[in-house]
Amino acid sequence: MRMLRRRSKSLAWLRLGALVAGVVLVGASVGLSILGARDDRATLDSGLMREDRKHTEAINEYFGRARDLMLLQAQNPSFADFYASAGTRIDKVAAGNAHLDQAVHSLAYLEDLYGGRIGEICFIDHSGAENARLVRGKRATFSSLSLNESANPFFWPTFAVGVGQVYQAAAYISPDTHDLVISNSTLVPGLPSGQQAVIHFEVSMASFADITADPGIRFMIVDAPTGTTIADSRMLAGASAGSVDDGHAFAALAKSGRDNGVTTIGDVRVAFDHLKSTKTNANDWYIIAAAPALNAGFGGYFGARTLILVGAALALFIFALASFRGYQRRLEHAAVTDALTSLPNRNMLCDEVEQALTAKRRNGGAVAVLVVDLDRFKEVNDTLGHHYGDQLLTAIGPRIRSVLRDGDTIARLGGDEFGLLLRSVHGPAEAVDVANRILARLSDPFQVGDLALQVEASIGIAISPQHGNDYTELLQHADTAMYVAKQSGLGASLYDTALDSHDPRRLLLLGELRRALDNGELVMHYQPKTFLSTDELRGVEALLRWNHPLRGLMLPDDFIPYAEHTALIQPLTDWVIERAVTDIKGWLDAGREIAVSINVSTRSLHDHRLCDSIAEQLQRHNVPSRLLIVEITETAIMTEPAKAREVLVALDEMGVEVSIDDFGTGQSSLAYLTTLPIHELKIDRSFVTHMRSRADDAVIVRSVIDLGHNLGLRVVAEGVEDHDTREQLYEAGCLIAQGYLWSRPLAVDALDAWLQSRDVVRQ
Ligand code: C2E
Ligand code: MG
Ligand code: MG
Repeated sequence: MRMLRRRSKSLAWLRLGALVAGVVLVGASVGLSILGARDDRATLDSGLMREDRKHTEAINEYFGRARDLMLLQAQNPSFADFYASAGTRIDKVAAGNAHLDQAVHSLAYLEDLYGGRIGEICFIDHSGAENARLVRGKRATFSSLSLNESANPFFWPTFAVGVGQVYQAAAYISPDTHDLVISNSTLVPGLPSGQQAVIHFEVSMASFADITADPGIRFMIVDAPTGTTIADSRMLAGASAGSVDDGHAFAALAKSGRDNGVTTIGDVRVAFDHLKSTKTNANDWYIIAAAPALNAGFGGYFGARTLILVGAALALFIFALASFRGYQRRLEHAAVTDALTSLPNRNMLCDEVEQALTAKRRNGGAVAVLVVDLDRFKEVNDTLGHHYGDQLLTAIGPRIRSVLRDGDTIARLGGDEFGLLLRSVHGPAEAVDVANRILARLSDPFQVGDLALQVEASIGIAISPQHGNDYTELLQHADTAMYVAKQSGLGASLYDTALDSHDPRRLLLLGELRRALDNGELVMHYQPKTFLSTDELRGVEALLRWNHPLRGLMLPDDFIPYAEHTALIQPLTDWVIERAVTDIKGWLDAGREIAVSINVSTRSLHDHRLCDSIAEQLQRHNVPSRLLIVEITETAIMTEPAKAREVLVALDEMGVEVSIDDFGTGQSSLAYLTTLPIHELKIDRSFVTHMRSRADDAVIVRSVIDLGHNLGLRVVAEGVEDHDTREQLYEAGCLIAQGYLWSRPLAVDALDAWLQSRDVVRQ
């Protein structure tokens, strides 16, 4: 057992260790991943920014170079010579002109400079009519020349910026190449007055797509005013760069107002640079370097290896957590389960009852709590052994369960005691009915090993709200009722408020009484019984007192009934027996033979240990049994007559006399009592006290005396306080009496003094 416990303890540490390791690993992985990711991202960002800056510089270089070239071209004298040469412009164009050819030749040189990027080059008159055009290096025929280029976006702005300036138009679809293009145009300087001409060339946007050297980085140009991607390295030359899916995201970037930086758009990490438009350059662009592959989602952010690490750590963590939770659940289960029977234990019953009470408070109705206690279970344990006892206890649960409804609970409270919750009952009658059915189910013999065991039980019932509103109160009252059931032999008993005191001091008092036993706060007083004829001492009655440190001397009626409902009555009775026998011995040693009557409560009378305890004390103190008399009430006998008879017979065999106390108050039949080995009747004080004033009581007393004597019993009158009563009793034939007339109950010293004073009077 200890080995198992140690093993499960070390397993628990192992699980805890795994859990902690999992947590640390997850924490470390995530931490490292974040740090790593930060590093990765910083590296990526600086790479992107570097790349982006490169692109921006390249584009700026293009614009600058294009401007320079344009201006250089425009200074070529062949343009001015063409205009200066004779003939109308249209004739010269139609018929051909050496200056014009020269001009076209110089324009074609641009093609060489821009290697395949240029779509169209033209020389246009200020009327908008083309003088010459080159499309991808091919000169257009006269008939295909456009008569009006003035609708093109570059045309009028070129005039607006004036001679010596280059106008760089925003991207548009070329009417000649049908590509998305940007263009450069400038006015030809030095023309004859009244003449104006434009030279112009287009560069396809697609040609910008391949300026990046790094294939891992995507390069884009986004037109800021429209948010359209006008160049994209993914599409390269030839593709339609104008319809890029993520245009909207970049439009947002365009609207952000930031001129450069690094940001994430969708699942793309981008470095961007804003190239603003100017008076001479209409292009308003975002030059963007993006790393879509690296920035794709969580995986890209943390890196695949990091993800695997985090995943593994998470798996370990979840495993450890699940395992630990399982262990915890087992612990929790053990905390609410009885180990032997696997039934819920007291804790779980408490929870269930409280839950049921809460539900009832909301919905109305009653909850019943039952306490089932097996009769004589100890005998099974003592005679057959614990193995049989355990098997029997395990078999009880299923039997009771078979009578209950699904929502009801059966718990083992400990020992041979079971607690039941009936979640919904309509009233006491229903609960009593369930209890009776349980008793019926339990009355079938239990097959334990090769034995058929007959089990009897007593059931106490308490119902909310009349008997209590919480678990403690209901259980306590069901327990009290169970004891009454045992006492009365009824089997099942419903709690009756009259049975128990609602005095809140009760529990406190019981706790104190437990201490009182250990602290020697209990004291025994003795009250003399005298022969009426001679006034000689017949014996004394031992009457218990509690010398309470705060309340003073407490009388038995104030604490014995409480003790009677608990197991405390047993040590208390043992104490009384030992005290009385010790005092008898003390008097014997002092030369006095005094018979002592002790009072034994109902519960003790039904406890087979009573006889053992008496026998042991008599033997230990070497006291003859005839000097001890046991007083019991009629009710104690009638509660469980069979048990009472067993004990009375055993006492009789020991030579201990039995007296029926408080005779006349109970419901017993004298005829039945005489079948028991009894020796004395004590007429209850209530009759004696009033026999002077009430004729009825006097009649009862007289008849009890006669009847008792006729049956060969000693008759003792209790509570004699005055001489008249004494006289009446004497005349009625009563031989022995007890009462304040002679003495109140006295402590041993006081009794000794009282006895001595009488001895002196006699002498
Ligand atoms: P009881 O056995 O009937 O004891 C007689 C009670 O009558 C005692 O009360 C006694 O003090 C009281 N008494 C005696 N003579 C007179 C009298 O002339 N006038 C009046 N008014 N009362 C008189 P006490 O000591 O308070 O005990 C009360 C009951 O407590 C006892 O009734 C007995 O049933 C119980 N008791 C006392 N000692 C013990 C004990 O050790 N164990 C148990 N289980 N019960 C005890
Ligand atoms: Mg008595
Ligand atoms: Mg009495």
